[in-house]
Amino acid sequence: MTKTTQTLTLSAALLLSACATAVTPTPFEAGGDVLAERIAYEPVKTPAKNVILFIGDGMGVSTVTAARIYAGQQLGKAGEEHQLSWETFPHTALSKTYNTNQQVADSAGTASAMYTGVKTKAGALSIGPDAPRGSCDQVTGAGLPTFFDAASAQGLRLGLVSSARLTHATPAAAYAHSSERNWEYDGELNDAARAGGCHDIAAQFVDGNMFDVALGGGRRAFLRDTDVEPDYPDEMGRRTDGVNLIDAWQAKNPTGKVVFDQAGFDTLVPGQDDRVLGLFEPSHLKFDSMNTGPDADPSLADLTAKAIELLSAKGDGFVLMVEGGRIDHAHHGGNAFNALSDTVAFAKAVAVADAMTSDSDTTILVTADHSHVFTIAGYPTRGNPILGLVYWNDGAGAPSGKPALASDDAPYTTLGYGNGPGAVTGPRPMLTDEEVQDPSYLQQATVPSSGETHGGEDVAIYAKGPRSYVVSGVVEQSYVHDAISYALDLD
Ligand SMILES: [Zn+2]
Repeated sequence: MTKTTQTLTLSAALLLSACATAVTPTPFEAGGDVLAERIAYEPVKTPAKNVILFIGDGMGVSTVTAARIYAGQQLGKAGEEHQLSWETFPHTALSKTYNTNQQVADSAGTASAMYTGVKTKAGALSIGPDAPRGSCDQVTGAGLPTFFDAASAQGLRLGLVSSARLTHATPAAAYAHSSERNWEYDGELNDAARAGGCHDIAAQFVDGNMFDVALGGGRRAFLRDTDVEPDYPDEMGRRTDGVNLIDAWQAKNPTGKVVFDQAGFDTLVPGQDDRVLGLFEPSHLKFDSMNTGPDADPSLADLTAKAIELLSAKGDGFVLMVEGGRIDHAHHGGNAFNALSDTVAFAKAVAVADAMTSDSDTTILVTADHSHVFTIAGYPTRGNPILGLVYWNDGAGAPSGKPALASDDAPYTTLGYGNGPGAVTGPRPMLTDEEVQDPSYLQQATVPSSGETHGGEDVAIYAKGPRSYVVSGVVEQSYVHDAISYALDLD
């Protein structure tokens, strides 16, 4: 930015701040500092000791932008100028997310691409693209090695953290090889799959016993249908094969520790507890906005911090995957509030990891597996509440006093969906600010559907640390595997 335009922009911002009633936008003056940082930047060309891969499930670029504004507004800023924790990272790329058989991807195929370096079908977990989905026929021998396998072979410790079930697609592709992501516990397999010798995902987790630290949800896939869920006296496990996989895990890891809640989590001792399995809910962890009160589980940031402490306590190198798994679920429900709130929780987890590690030996990648059909639209004025109705700028910089009206004379929100449960079939209602800013509000959508869907545009990869400069350009999603393998100098 030249000095003249910088001054003009600053003047405009000051004028805007003088006129605005709700918020005071921050002047735009950071350009020169960023350029100086880029010029002074010296890449670390030696291999990384540790890699942390953060996957915001469904965290497309529009979600990142809206969450940035939301987080800024929570801090009393206008919002647009705010930066999420990974937005200061020096390297970025765009990642093409399609599966081998779908233009718009699912999370199983995308996680498999990132972990194995090979794109595959939607629904498949770390097997090649030829095996038919939901069939056991071509699974044997089709399993693809992951960078977790290679890292383990080089003596690195492995960690897995998710706010979703540990048997859900994104974490599952790290350890399971399956033609069907829905085979989370034995009862989900069809007779033919069982007869063909395929195993459910939770069983594969325990059989492989790869991960030193695994923290997340999904306890029901490990408990028998005769086992009562801890803290949920009305709920039972799901396994019908009579095998309690938590006991099986403990038998394989005699000195390992299993924890089910915050109190158990608080007893974990880095350096002493080398093998840890934390299963905090029968299904997914709660949305971050709802994770309060005496039954609250550890936050994603707390889980991430503990995983790093446990993995690094003895000075070993490690590879850790952390999934913000519920951003995706909020979007599928057509609810922007929880999608943004969980993205902010994910950003806190990245910030904690960044603060606990050194740029000289730890490479951090932050990306998404796919996007959602989530839009930011309608010319709202600067600092307009991101979850609110659109108020136009009145030309002098101040918000107009009344919400903007669409061609049907009804107000509309900045955030919306291309499809989803918030679609309106009759005339659009006269929305109020109070209504649309309620945490449970479902944003309007164009096409009615019971669940909002993934989006097909590219997602971003943000990276810092040793060898992270290879994260650049427009790449196939499977390149994430290659970049991590290079960072760690894996065979
Ligand atoms: Zn999804």
